[in-house]
Amino acid sequence: MNAQEMDRYRHQLFALGERLHNTMSELTGEALRQSGGEASGQLSNTPLHMADLGSDNFEQSVAVSLLQNERAVLGEISAALSRIDAGTFGRCIQCGRDIPTDRLEAIPYASHCIRCARQQEVETGDRQSPRQESD
Ligand SMILES: [Zn+2]
Repeated sequence: MNAQEMDRYRHQLFALGERLHNTMSELTGEALRQSGGEASGQLSNTPLHMADLGSDNFEQSVAVSLLQNERAVLGEISAALSRIDAGTFGRCIQCGRDIPTDRLEAIPYASHCIRCARQQEVETGDRQSPRQESD
């Protein structure tokens, strides 16, 4: 991969990171808003409202799990940007082989070739499960 291509991916990664950052701010607001505060004053004990409460909790947990996802992707993006700086971008961090361009076009922050990514999915069982929770 030449410097020009790397530069193009750098721009793509920055744009993607910015977009994710915006989405995360919205989701954070949503999760906070639904976790009580103003909304709790409107709740009554009737079964009808229990259903509403349930769906609020569901939406909130969706927002939280989306946030965890986005945060993981942001981590991937910043790792990809450091690989660009290090000049190793576009190579699988596991086997060192080139990651196919169409894969990078789809996922510019991909750190593994398809083979190694599949292997990892099999090993972890679920590629969406967050490995650690830190702030
Ligand atoms: Zn690989």
